[in-house]
Amino acid sequence: MKFNYLYFFIFVFSLVSCNNFYSIEDFSSVEKIDAHFHIYNKASISFEQAKKDNFKLFSVNVYHGNCEEVIESNQTTKSLNSKFPSEFGYASTFCLDGWDKPAWDKNTISWIDETIKDGAVAVKVWKNIGMEFRDKDSVLIMIDDPQFDAIFTHLSKKGIPLVGHLGEPKACWQPIEEMKANNNKNYFTNNPQYHMYLHPDYPSYEEQMEARDRMLKKNPEITFIGCHLASLEWSVDVLADWLDRFPNASVDMAARMGDLFYQTRDDNNKVYDFFIKYQDRILYGTDIGESGGENKESFHKRMHETWLRDWEYLVTDNKMTSHLIDGEFSGLKLPKEVVDKIYAENFKKWYKIF
Ligand SMILES: [Zn+2]
Repeated sequence: MKFNYLYFFIFVFSLVSCNNFYSIEDFSSVEKIDAHFHIYNKASISFEQAKKDNFKLFSVNVYHGNCEEVIESNQTTKSLNSKFPSEFGYASTFCLDGWDKPAWDKNTISWIDETIKDGAVAVKVWKNIGMEFRDKDSVLIMIDDPQFDAIFTHLSKKGIPLVGHLGEPKACWQPIEEMKANNNKNYFTNNPQYHMYLHPDYPSYEEQMEARDRMLKKNPEITFIGCHLASLEWSVDVLADWLDRFPNASVDMAARMGDLFYQTRDDNNKVYDFFIKYQDRILYGTDIGESGGENKESFHKRMHETWLRDWEYLVTDNKMTSHLIDGEFSGLKLPKEVVDKIYAENFKKWYKIF
């Protein structure tokens, strides 16, 4: 009798352990959300591939320095949202024109409310705050500037999440040859205006992070989603400490897979433990952008290959290589329930849509 029980438990255990992990083949059958995508094209070609791979898309509008562009991207995402209400969501943004005029904050709040009425569910701020915009006295505007207080208080009160890409990867302050992720090497080689190593007169990495944290301390009720692993991509230990300090914050992984890959290559268990411990606060995202004019076939291929590579990394323990880093690393093989959270449940909880 005892013998039969033993076999029974072994049988049940093996069933449970088999079912506790996804495989590569499960990719298209599991519901997923790309929490950090950009679409600037009303006749978007992204949805076709997203549907095939079982992805919903969340587009994050960005103020690159032109108010007209902000209005236009709001129109584009509004129209996509009415076309694909259950497959598409978006964050709006605001511009800094008129910053030095007294009505700036009132006008900005009205604009934000209008975009929320249109269908946006969050508001994005970008790295040009802290790295580019100056007031009438040529002083660089940082994210903890008191003039933002009314805006962020408004978002807190209304329960509208703030999406922040503030600062840059730490590598931005390093010389190209010291950067560990190849994507950083490429980006900063091609965008020297944002390569802060070349601009020592600008705030340091630490000053950018401190300004962001001071803003969060001023607004303890605000829901904050830190894009690109909250610019703390270089160390899961430092990111863990930051998440402990700001319980209303979560992070998306967009465009920082390379940083996760090299930390995994160096210490797989450490990255695995990080994902397990913070499984409710990590959102999958890619930062893929469609601006119109892309070749459909190669764009779809890029979407599919990026999504599939990251799926392999998160659900299997396959030995992998990637153009993002040098050397080999193993996938994390996260349990199903953690994978489901990272790909969909956390998004629904933090953004309150879908
Ligand atoms: Zn982005």
